[in-house]
Amino acid sequence: MQRIVIIGSGFAGLWAAIGAARKRQELGKENALEIIVINKNNYHGIRVRYYEEDLLATQIPLSDLLTPIKVNYQIGSVTAIDFIHQRIEVTTKGSTVESIPYDRLVLTAGSHLFTPAILGLQEHAFNIDTYEAAKKLNKHLHTCFKKNSGKSHTVVVIGGGFTGIEMACELPTRLKNIAQQSGVATDQIRVIIIDQHEIGSTLGLNPQPVILKALHDLQIETRSNSQVSSVSSTSVTLQSGEVIDTQTIIWTAGMRASALTDLFLAKKDNFNRLFVDDYLRIPTSLSCFAAGDVACAKVDDQHQSVMSCQHARPQGRLVGHNVVADLFNEPMIIYRQEQYVTILDLGSWGALYMDGWDRKVISAGALAKKTKININHHRIYPPLTKNAHDLFTAAAPIIQPIPSILS
Ligand SMILES: Cc1cc2nc3c(=O)[nH]c(=O)nc-3n(C[C@H](O)[C@H](O)[C@H](O)COP(=O)(O)OP(=O)(O)OC[C@H]3O[C@@H](n4cnc5c(N)ncnc54)[C@H](O)[C@@H]3O)c2cc1C
Repeated sequence: MQRIVIIGSGFAGLWAAIGAARKRQELGKENALEIIVINKNNYHGIRVRYYEEDLLATQIPLSDLLTPIKVNYQIGSVTAIDFIHQRIEVTTKGSTVESIPYDRLVLTAGSHLFTPAILGLQEHAFNIDTYEAAKKLNKHLHTCFKKNSGKSHTVVVIGGGFTGIEMACELPTRLKNIAQQSGVATDQIRVIIIDQHEIGSTLGLNPQPVILKALHDLQIETRSNSQVSSVSSTSVTLQSGEVIDTQTIIWTAGMRASALTDLFLAKKDNFNRLFVDDYLRIPTSLSCFAAGDVACAKVDDQHQSVMSCQHARPQGRLVGHNVVADLFNEPMIIYRQEQYVTILDLGSWGALYMDGWDRKVISAGALAKKTKININHHRIYPPLTKNAHDLFTAAAPIIQPIPSILS
């Protein structure tokens, strides 16, 4: 019996597992190949929704997705890889270390928020990088609005990129709802977004004016070109000398690929991602593949993939197909993904639908919001029917067309 080990069950890892099981069935190799997923948690996390208040539907049990397709899984953290003997080390909850051999390895361990050495940031800032962090923020916000809590109703979001803008734009409505539930006046609510560059500039010149208008209309204060010098439990201090009183600081700036990429003797980019070849293999370790936020892959003749589920999901489906094909000397498929769109949630203002790498604005407001909700609530979900046929159908190793604006 041969074995494929997949590290991680996020957008890339889950689809790698389903794609691999699909190909295994197609080749009639069910009795010759075991597929096992190692993940830190027992769920597939819908990470792109962690800026939202309602997190109920963001954890899908792995048993619902992997058991129907006969993929095994183990909860634990991969801590070491022995490339010579082809084994990984997994640390499970009771600190037990287990060694698992592999014939092919797929690295889909994703990314994490990068926290720079700003005084107090690590200790006092909240974030929305994981389900647990998003839940902790939610609980804290409710605490701040408890009657007579004496806590500040100012929320500061640091980072004016994609995640920071989505978080900030969600807050006015969310805070008003919490305040009303607690019988607290809403006129004390302040939301401030800070960035060391122009807010929204990382998304490009085309969408920036729309983003700034949405922030203005939502009465979100902005501090562009502002460096944060320190953070405490009660304030944020900027290098300009401005001190903002707040007990809620949300850090959203900067992502890095999983530290497991450091174990590979391979070329990496500035985000710590491994450069992969056209088949999503790691060139220096050909029995190892990578996809999603740990991989820097060529999407067309000019561009490389970005850390996004738009790239992680198709890469997952394709890497699943390729890893099984490679094991049984079948042809692999070249990864290319030419179409690129960005859809930014702007809270109660709506959303922004942008096309291409220069992010030309296609639609802004309520219409774009409909598409964003469709993506976040339906399209990025795997079939929840616990049915192998449905899962395999959704895992075809193809690039699915991107939804156009819904009317
Ligand atoms: C708030 C927020 C909003 C976002 N919005 C968007 C958006 O609108 N559109 C978009 O395209 N992208 C968005 N993203 C980015 C998107 O979520 C990521 O690009 C995507 O999750 C990457 O998928 P992945 O499978 O590579 O990694 P992940 O989804 O991070 O999954 C990695 C998995 O690996 C597991 N893991 C990690 N290390 C280990 C280990 N050592 N051992 C075992 N398991 C391990 C983790 O527990 C996790 O389950 C957003 C991200 C955030 C945080």
